Amino acid sequence: MVQTIDIEISEVGPRDGLQSIEPIMQTKDKKAWINALAAAGVPEIEVGSFVPQSLLPQLADTAELVSHARHIDSLTVAVLVPNLKGAQNALAVRPHKMTIPLSVSETHSLKNLRRTHDQVLDEVRGIRAAIDELETAERPKLEGSLSTAFGCTLEGDVPASKVLEMAEKLMAAGCDEIGLSDTTGFASPRQVRDYTRNIHQLLGPKALAGIHLHNTRGQGLANVMAALEVGLTTVDASMGGIGGCPFAPGASGNIVTEDLVFLLESMGLKTGINFEKLFAARQLLQKALPTVELFGFTPLAGLPKGFSPATPQ
Ligand code: ZN
Repeated sequence: MVQTIDIEISEVGPRDGLQSIEPIMQTKDKKAWINALAAAGVPEIEVGSFVPQSLLPQLADTAELVSHARHIDSLTVAVLVPNLKGAQNALAVRPHKMTIPLSVSETHSLKNLRRTHDQVLDEVRGIRAAIDELETAERPKLEGSLSTAFGCTLEGDVPASKVLEMAEKLMAAGCDEIGLSDTTGFASPRQVRDYTRNIHQLLGPKALAGIHLHNTRGQGLANVMAALEVGLTTVDASMGGIGGCPFAPGASGNIVTEDLVFLLESMGLKTGINFEKLFAARQLLQKALPTVELFGFTPLAGLPKGFSPATPQ
Protein backbone atom coordinates (compact mmCIF):
# COMPACT_ATOMS: atom_id res chain seq x y z
CA MET A 1 0.00 0.00 0.00
CA VAL A 2 1.36 3.37 -0.94
CA GLN A 3 0.50 5.91 1.72
CA THR A 4 0.29 9.61 1.13
CA ILE A 5 2.97 11.75 2.67
CA ASP A 6 2.97 15.46 3.40
CA ILE A 7 6.69 16.16 3.45
CA GLU A 8 9.24 14.14 1.54
CA ILE A 9 12.53 13.51 3.27
CA SER A 10 15.45 13.00 0.96
CA GLU A 11 18.17 11.11 2.80
CA VAL A 12 21.58 12.34 1.69
CA GLY A 13 23.69 10.37 4.17
CA PRO A 14 25.09 7.86 1.68
CA ARG A 15 26.39 10.76 -0.47
CA ASP A 16 26.78 14.05 1.40
CA GLY A 17 27.22 12.21 4.69
CA LEU A 18 29.85 9.72 3.66
CA GLN A 19 31.83 11.95 1.34
CA SER A 20 33.49 13.84 4.18
CA ILE A 21 34.06 10.78 6.34
CA GLU A 22 37.41 9.11 6.35
CA PRO A 23 36.75 5.42 7.07
CA ILE A 24 35.45 3.81 3.89
CA MET A 25 32.07 2.18 4.38
CA GLN A 26 31.98 -1.18 2.67
CA THR A 27 29.61 -1.60 -0.24
CA LYS A 28 27.72 -4.43 1.46
CA ASP A 29 27.19 -2.24 4.52
CA LYS A 30 25.99 0.63 2.36
CA LYS A 31 23.49 -1.67 0.65
CA ALA A 32 22.20 -2.93 4.01
CA TRP A 33 21.91 0.67 5.24
CA ILE A 34 20.03 1.78 2.11
CA ASN A 35 17.70 -1.22 2.50
CA ALA A 36 17.08 -0.32 6.14
CA LEU A 37 16.37 3.34 5.32
CA ALA A 38 13.93 2.33 2.59
CA ALA A 39 12.31 -0.24 4.89
CA ALA A 40 11.77 2.56 7.43
CA GLY A 41 9.80 4.41 4.74
CA VAL A 42 12.37 6.98 3.58
CA PRO A 43 10.99 7.88 0.14
CA GLU A 44 14.15 9.21 -1.53
CA ILE A 45 17.83 8.42 -1.02
CA GLU A 46 20.82 10.10 -2.63
CA VAL A 47 23.00 7.03 -2.90
CA GLY A 48 26.21 8.55 -4.21
CA SER A 49 28.00 10.85 -6.59
CA PHE A 50 29.51 10.27 -10.01
CA VAL A 51 32.80 12.00 -9.33
CA PRO A 52 36.10 10.44 -10.44
CA GLN A 53 37.01 7.54 -8.12
CA SER A 54 40.47 9.02 -7.57
CA LEU A 55 38.90 12.13 -6.02
CA LEU A 56 36.45 10.35 -3.74
CA PRO A 57 37.25 6.68 -3.15
CA GLN A 58 34.45 6.58 -0.55
CA LEU A 59 31.88 6.93 -3.36
CA ALA A 60 33.58 4.69 -5.94
CA ASP A 61 30.72 2.16 -5.73
CA THR A 62 27.94 4.62 -6.68
CA ALA A 63 26.96 2.83 -9.91
CA GLU A 64 26.61 -0.46 -8.07
CA LEU A 65 24.50 1.23 -5.37
CA VAL A 66 22.17 2.79 -7.95
CA SER A 67 21.61 -0.62 -9.56
CA HIS A 68 20.97 -2.12 -6.13
CA ALA A 69 18.62 0.63 -4.95
CA ARG A 70 16.65 0.61 -8.21
CA HIS A 71 15.32 -2.80 -7.16
CA ILE A 72 13.72 -1.36 -4.03
CA ASP A 73 10.02 -0.74 -4.60
CA SER A 74 8.76 2.84 -4.56
CA LEU A 75 12.16 4.31 -3.64
CA THR A 76 13.37 7.34 -5.57
CA VAL A 77 17.06 6.82 -6.28
CA ALA A 78 18.98 10.08 -6.54
CA VAL A 79 22.61 10.83 -7.35
CA LEU A 80 24.86 13.84 -7.62
CA VAL A 81 26.58 14.52 -10.92
CA PRO A 82 29.32 17.16 -11.10
CA ASN A 83 29.32 17.44 -14.90
CA LEU A 84 28.27 15.88 -18.23
CA LYS A 85 30.78 13.04 -17.95
CA GLY A 86 29.43 12.10 -14.51
CA ALA A 87 25.88 12.33 -15.84
CA GLN A 88 26.71 9.99 -18.73
CA ASN A 89 28.06 7.43 -16.27
CA ALA A 90 24.95 7.89 -14.15
CA LEU A 91 22.58 7.50 -17.09
CA ALA A 92 24.04 4.07 -17.81
CA VAL A 93 22.50 2.82 -14.56
CA ARG A 94 19.33 4.96 -14.67
CA PRO A 95 18.83 6.80 -11.39
CA HIS A 96 15.42 8.46 -11.00
CA LYS A 97 16.95 11.82 -10.24
CA MET A 98 20.26 13.58 -10.92
CA THR A 99 21.39 16.71 -9.15
CA ILE A 100 24.07 19.02 -10.51
CA PRO A 101 25.38 21.65 -8.12
CA LEU A 102 26.08 25.21 -9.17
CA SER A 103 27.82 27.48 -6.67
CA VAL A 104 26.09 30.85 -6.70
CA SER A 105 29.38 32.27 -5.44
CA GLU A 106 31.56 32.12 -8.52
CA THR A 107 34.72 32.20 -6.40
CA HIS A 108 33.53 29.02 -4.69
CA SER A 109 32.62 27.52 -8.05
CA LEU A 110 36.11 28.17 -9.43
CA LYS A 111 37.82 26.83 -6.35
CA ASN A 112 35.71 23.69 -5.88
CA LEU A 113 34.57 22.76 -9.38
CA ARG A 114 37.21 24.72 -11.28
CA ARG A 115 34.42 26.09 -13.44
CA THR A 116 32.81 29.45 -14.12
CA HIS A 117 29.02 29.77 -14.06
CA ASP A 118 28.90 29.72 -17.85
CA GLN A 119 30.91 26.50 -17.92
CA VAL A 120 28.55 24.83 -15.41
CA LEU A 121 25.53 25.98 -17.46
CA ASP A 122 27.15 24.44 -20.55
CA GLU A 123 27.41 21.14 -18.67
CA VAL A 124 23.71 21.42 -17.75
CA ARG A 125 22.75 21.92 -21.40
CA GLY A 126 24.84 18.88 -22.33
CA ILE A 127 23.18 16.78 -19.63
CA ARG A 128 19.71 17.91 -20.79
CA ALA A 129 20.54 16.77 -24.32
CA ALA A 130 21.83 13.41 -23.05
CA ILE A 131 18.64 12.88 -21.01
CA ASP A 132 16.42 13.80 -23.93
CA GLU A 133 17.97 11.06 -26.03
CA LEU A 134 16.24 8.53 -23.74
CA GLU A 135 12.62 7.40 -24.01
CA THR A 136 10.37 9.73 -22.01
CA ALA A 137 9.63 7.11 -19.34
CA GLU A 138 13.36 6.46 -18.83
CA ARG A 139 14.39 10.05 -18.26
CA PRO A 140 15.62 10.96 -14.81
CA LYS A 141 14.55 14.25 -13.31
CA LEU A 142 17.33 16.85 -13.45
CA GLU A 143 17.74 19.16 -10.50
CA GLY A 144 20.08 22.13 -10.39
CA SER A 145 21.20 22.75 -6.85
CA LEU A 146 22.06 26.35 -5.96
CA SER A 147 24.89 25.80 -3.51
CA THR A 148 26.32 28.60 -1.34
CA ALA A 149 22.92 30.27 -1.93
CA PHE A 150 22.82 31.81 1.55
CA GLY A 151 26.43 32.88 1.87
CA CYS A 152 29.94 31.74 1.04
CA THR A 153 32.99 31.14 3.20
CA LEU A 154 35.12 32.81 0.50
CA GLU A 155 32.93 35.66 -0.80
CA GLY A 156 30.87 36.20 2.36
CA ASP A 157 27.51 37.68 1.44
CA VAL A 158 25.98 36.25 -1.74
CA PRO A 159 23.48 38.75 -3.22
CA ALA A 160 19.88 37.55 -3.33
CA SER A 161 19.64 38.86 -6.89
CA LYS A 162 22.46 36.52 -7.92
CA VAL A 163 20.54 33.54 -6.49
CA LEU A 164 17.51 34.48 -8.58
CA GLU A 165 19.61 35.02 -11.68
CA MET A 166 21.26 31.61 -11.38
CA ALA A 167 17.91 29.92 -10.65
CA GLU A 168 16.52 31.34 -13.85
CA LYS A 169 19.59 30.38 -15.85
CA LEU A 170 19.57 26.79 -14.55
CA MET A 171 15.93 26.37 -15.56
CA ALA A 172 16.63 27.91 -18.97
CA ALA A 173 19.57 25.52 -19.42
CA GLY A 174 17.25 22.54 -19.01
CA CYS A 175 16.80 21.67 -15.34
CA ASP A 176 13.39 20.29 -14.38
CA GLU A 177 13.64 21.97 -11.03
CA ILE A 178 16.06 23.75 -8.77
CA GLY A 179 16.95 23.35 -5.12
CA LEU A 180 18.34 25.78 -2.57
CA SER A 181 21.38 24.66 -0.61
CA ASP A 182 22.85 26.19 2.51
CA THR A 183 26.28 24.69 1.91
CA THR A 184 27.97 26.85 4.51
CA GLY A 185 25.36 26.92 7.29
CA PHE A 186 24.85 30.69 6.96
CA ALA A 187 21.08 30.65 6.32
CA SER A 188 18.52 32.36 8.51
CA PRO A 189 14.79 31.60 8.50
CA ARG A 190 14.12 35.02 6.97
CA GLN A 191 16.47 34.31 4.07
CA VAL A 192 14.88 30.92 3.50
CA ARG A 193 11.43 32.53 3.34
CA ASP A 194 12.47 35.44 1.15
CA TYR A 195 14.53 33.43 -1.33
CA THR A 196 11.87 30.78 -1.71
CA ARG A 197 9.13 33.36 -2.25
CA ASN A 198 11.22 35.23 -4.79
CA ILE A 199 11.98 32.10 -6.79
CA HIS A 200 8.36 30.95 -6.66
CA GLN A 201 7.27 34.36 -7.90
CA LEU A 202 9.77 34.36 -10.73
CA LEU A 203 9.61 30.74 -11.88
CA GLY A 204 6.45 29.27 -10.33
CA PRO A 205 6.13 27.02 -7.27
CA LYS A 206 6.91 23.85 -9.24
CA ALA A 207 10.41 25.07 -10.07
CA LEU A 208 11.51 24.94 -6.44
CA ALA A 209 10.25 22.21 -4.12
CA GLY A 210 13.30 21.21 -2.12
CA ILE A 211 15.89 22.61 0.23
CA HIS A 212 19.20 21.40 1.65
CA LEU A 213 20.00 22.85 5.05
CA HIS A 214 22.91 22.59 7.43
CA ASN A 215 22.97 22.86 11.20
CA THR A 216 26.42 24.40 11.45
CA ARG A 217 25.16 27.26 13.61
CA GLY A 218 22.23 25.43 15.15
CA GLN A 219 19.64 26.98 12.79
CA GLY A 220 18.82 23.84 10.81
CA LEU A 221 15.34 23.07 12.14
CA ALA A 222 14.40 26.75 12.45
CA ASN A 223 15.18 27.03 8.76
CA VAL A 224 13.07 23.94 8.05
CA MET A 225 10.13 25.68 9.74
CA ALA A 226 10.60 28.68 7.47
CA ALA A 227 10.75 26.40 4.44
CA LEU A 228 7.49 24.70 5.43
CA GLU A 229 5.79 28.07 5.88
CA VAL A 230 6.45 29.01 2.27
CA GLY A 231 5.34 25.66 0.91
CA LEU A 232 8.49 23.66 0.31
CA THR A 233 7.71 19.94 0.43
CA THR A 234 11.07 18.17 0.12
CA VAL A 235 13.76 18.50 2.77
CA ASP A 236 17.22 16.93 2.62
CA ALA A 237 18.64 15.41 5.79
CA SER A 238 21.36 13.02 6.81
CA MET A 239 21.05 10.17 9.27
CA GLY A 240 22.98 10.99 12.43
CA GLY A 241 23.74 14.38 10.85
CA ILE A 242 26.86 12.92 9.26
CA GLY A 243 28.76 14.93 6.68
CA GLY A 244 28.05 18.36 5.30
CA CYS A 245 31.41 19.79 6.37
CA PRO A 246 30.78 20.25 10.07
CA PHE A 247 32.94 23.25 11.05
CA ALA A 248 31.66 23.72 14.57
CA PRO A 249 32.64 21.08 17.09
CA GLY A 250 29.57 19.47 18.67
CA ALA A 251 27.28 20.52 15.84
CA SER A 252 26.26 18.38 12.93
CA GLY A 253 26.80 19.61 9.38
CA ASN A 254 23.73 18.27 7.66
CA ILE A 255 20.48 18.39 9.57
CA VAL A 256 19.71 15.16 11.38
CA THR A 257 17.10 12.95 9.70
CA GLU A 258 15.86 11.46 12.96
CA ASP A 259 15.22 14.88 14.55
CA LEU A 260 13.61 16.20 11.36
CA VAL A 261 11.22 13.24 11.24
CA PHE A 262 10.30 13.90 14.86
CA LEU A 263 9.69 17.60 14.19
CA LEU A 264 7.43 16.90 11.23
CA GLU A 265 5.51 14.00 12.76
CA SER A 266 4.93 15.94 15.98
CA MET A 267 3.33 18.71 13.93
CA GLY A 268 0.97 16.25 12.26
CA LEU A 269 2.88 16.13 8.97
CA LYS A 270 3.23 12.63 7.55
CA THR A 271 6.68 11.57 6.41
CA GLY A 272 5.75 7.92 5.83
CA ILE A 273 8.57 6.94 8.18
CA ASN A 274 8.49 4.37 10.99
CA PHE A 275 10.56 5.45 14.00
CA GLU A 276 11.54 2.01 15.22
CA LYS A 277 12.84 1.04 11.81
CA LEU A 278 14.56 4.41 11.41
CA PHE A 279 16.42 3.92 14.69
CA ALA A 280 17.33 0.40 13.57
CA ALA A 281 18.88 1.88 10.42
CA ARG A 282 20.90 4.25 12.60
CA GLN A 283 22.22 1.34 14.64
CA LEU A 284 23.26 -0.36 11.46
CA LEU A 285 25.13 2.77 10.38
CA GLN A 286 26.87 3.09 13.73
CA LYS A 287 27.91 -0.56 13.63
CA ALA A 288 29.37 -0.16 10.14
CA LEU A 289 31.23 3.05 11.11
CA PRO A 290 32.05 2.58 14.79
CA THR A 291 34.54 5.50 14.95
CA VAL A 292 32.20 8.07 13.39
CA GLU A 293 30.25 10.34 15.72
CA LEU A 294 26.51 10.34 15.08
CA PHE A 295 24.45 13.38 16.08
CA GLY A 296 20.78 13.80 16.92
CA PHE A 297 18.71 14.26 20.05
CA THR A 298 15.63 12.14 19.34
CA PRO A 299 17.43 8.80 19.00
CA LEU A 300 19.17 9.39 22.34
CA ALA A 301 16.19 10.77 24.28
CA GLY A 302 13.70 8.40 22.70
CA LEU A 303 10.15 9.34 21.74
CA PRO A 304 8.11 11.13 24.40
CA LYS A 305 5.80 8.93 26.44
CA GLY A 306 2.45 8.55 24.70
CA PHE A 307 3.73 10.19 21.50
CA SER A 308 1.58 9.49 18.49
CA PRO A 309 3.19 10.25 15.15
CA ALA A 310 1.13 11.42 12.17
CA THR A 311 2.32 8.47 10.11
CA PRO A 312 0.68 5.20 11.21
CA GLN A 313 3.48 3.10 12.69
ZN1 ZN B 1 24.98 19.00 3.08
